[in-house]
Amino acid sequence: MLIDTHCHIQMPPLDKDIEGAIKRANQAGVYKLIVVGCDLELSRKAIGISENYDGVFATIALHPQDAKKLTDKMWAEFEKMAENKNVVAIGETGLDYFKEYSPKEKQIEVFKKHIELALKVDKPLIIHNRDADEDSIRILQEYKVKKAVFHCYASGVEFARKVWQAGYFTSFTGMITYPKANALRSVVEECPLECMMVETDCPFLAPQKYRGNTNEPAYVVEVAAEITRIKNKDLKEIEEITTRNAEEFFGI
Ligand SMILES: [Zn+2]
Repeated sequence: MLIDTHCHIQMPPLDKDIEGAIKRANQAGVYKLIVVGCDLELSRKAIGISENYDGVFATIALHPQDAKKLTDKMWAEFEKMAENKNVVAIGETGLDYFKEYSPKEKQIEVFKKHIELALKVDKPLIIHNRDADEDSIRILQEYKVKKAVFHCYASGVEFARKVWQAGYFTSFTGMITYPKANALRSVVEECPLECMMVETDCPFLAPQKYRGNTNEPAYVVEVAAEITRIKNKDLKEIEEITTRNAEEFFGI
């Protein structure tokens, strides 16, 4: 059994057939899904789906790229949603200095609000980090955050060591199956089993085998298979460990 710890089945085109995506995931042995919110509407939809299907959980946040759009009214709604029992984490939040759609200072301010909220409701954080390695970990440590996952890990191995050292998780997507992703595969190779989770980040980042198609939760199997290959382990062991990590992390 596997868990897709980060999917956006409430986003187009997956939102047209949410039931089908969940069913295909279950048939592939993926019995739990974390549907991740990136704005108010997508967070609301994530909660809605989690209320309709067993094994489906939600998270809520405003993506760092939209940090500049945050209003007090919007935040009050996020605060309310954070208390929902089906909401198992705050995220994806963090910093994106690659695209920098919102100014850095604003991103940091909004990231801190999410951290404070996570601490208040005692839920873990899902971190989106692009080209912001040092700031993202520094801020988490300033707040003494204990539970965080660097989702869709795409930074180098040296930074990964700092993440693991801090007690945080790295989560891997279908990116690790791409022919050019050797640097990322060496991160997987070094990643302690107790620090890793698997995800699709669908509808984005379809694994190599399905590249060009819409990604979906069932394909997290490909991520686990690639980890198995890189680490030279049994698939069963990778399934068990990543699932246990996710269950403990999200409390599901
Ligand atoms: Zn995502």
